[in-house]
Amino acid sequence: MNTSLFELFKIGIGPSSSHTVGPMRAALRFVHELQSSAALPAAMRIQIDLFGSLALTGIGHGTDRAILLGLSGEAPDTVDPARIEDLLAHIRQSQTLCLGGSQEIPFHEPTDLLFHRNQMYPDPNRPSHPNGIRFTAFDAAGAILHSDVFYSVGGGFIVSHAEFEAERDAPAATSSRTVPYPFRSADDLLTIAASQNLSIAELLLANEVALLSDPNIKISRPQPDTEAATHPVNPEDQIRASILALWQVMQQCTERGVATEGILPGGLKVRRRAHRLAERLNTFGSKDPLAPIDWVTVYAMAVNEENAAGGRVVTAPTNGAAGVIPAIAHYYMRFVAKLPNPETSAPALSPQEAESGLLRFFLTAAAIGILYKENASISGAEVGCQGEVGVACSMAAGGLVAALNGTNAQIEHAAEIAMEHNLGMTCDPIGGLVQIPCIERNGMGAVKAINAARMAMHESGDHKLSLDQVIATMYQTGLDMQSRYKETSLAGLALNIIEC
Ligand code: SF4
Repeated sequence: MNTSLFELFKIGIGPSSSHTVGPMRAALRFVHELQSSAALPAAMRIQIDLFGSLALTGIGHGTDRAILLGLSGEAPDTVDPARIEDLLAHIRQSQTLCLGGSQEIPFHEPTDLLFHRNQMYPDPNRPSHPNGIRFTAFDAAGAILHSDVFYSVGGGFIVSHAEFEAERDAPAATSSRTVPYPFRSADDLLTIAASQNLSIAELLLANEVALLSDPNIKISRPQPDTEAATHPVNPEDQIRASILALWQVMQQCTERGVATEGILPGGLKVRRRAHRLAERLNTFGSKDPLAPIDWVTVYAMAVNEENAAGGRVVTAPTNGAAGVIPAIAHYYMRFVAKLPNPETSAPALSPQEAESGLLRFFLTAAAIGILYKENASISGAEVGCQGEVGVACSMAAGGLVAALNGTNAQIEHAAEIAMEHNLGMTCDPIGGLVQIPCIERNGMGAVKAINAARMAMHESGDHKLSLDQVIATMYQTGLDMQSRYKETSLAGLALNIIEC
């Protein structure tokens, strides 16, 4: 196991990690390939071919926009969301594209960006991934300078066709990262943690320090923007500061979502609801004992409304499921850490204790997310929404138990319960937009995570089904699911609801 927390939680833009963030990164990587092979100055035309789910729901998910931005040299974590519309308008009006920000070429979108809606990437030998993209660069005479194929495998992760094949043929051979506590399963996690007398959060922190300290591993980590925390020297403190910087981006996203009203883009005329619900809770919530649950819904929906609007979000583990983790983090900070414990009458936590709990939450949630990423899938196009909101729910449930000082066994149990009751969940977004059912589904996933955490905290951790078994079941169920229920908008709600 060698995925980093900072690869699972990445700053990007909405509305989709697999259909927006991934394609944008793939386009940028293709431009970097052109630059490193010195082919860029000769490039006079680019053709992009989208296959499978990317072709079927790419317009609703902003894949076309993401590719134009990536080819222009923009990255999902650094592009200024306020500049995006102007950049795209310029490309489309001028019918030119500035490759990598330096090489201006003609770009005629209807013939240069092609959606192959009835085709997977044509691998003649065996089935390939549902999210395939081929980039081809031509010189002035029309000869091919360079071509590469990428798969957007969920959560904003991309692999080239060659990497995909190598990983499929020899999974272990492609791993070159060394960490002190490598784990391949939840069972490994529990066994190693017990033998080393570590919590899951401590174990992952040690692995993150090793990844940070290896100069050959390049992972983008957000930096804190406050003066006091600018340059922590201790690697553990650097990891903690970067996690808190991610949390800051999540909070900013939530605040924008709660503050903003109006209709979401895309043509479905879906109204933003987080703002009105928050106003209602501010007026009447103090009399309602279940108001904290409604606030969890507000936080989750606020983030996903921002995502649907193409705003700045953190994949957790995907964009479509980006609301669950921040909603539970807000729940912990506002309704758990700041209030006396009703069972033990212990006083509210100090700010330092609350921050420690929050860090345990993110580290533990990441460890669980890594298990899904490396043993199953976090791509709706591959395994349905159980791999997106289902995984986010499982991560959040385990993370919340850790924040509440539960045992490793209780963490594993909570993550298992949360996924067990998301099994079989399809991905059928109406109109190919990440709006219905996605926005509400994040609220439901967040509330379910609290329920799973509370159930596990009332037990010792002993249970029949293991997290490893439920992860394997999720993956098998996803593979057995008909592809029209996996981010194609060809079935389910997408088929039975008339767009208007
Ligand atoms: S239904 Fe779930 S998996 Fe599909 S786009 Fe929406 S959030 Fe993502």
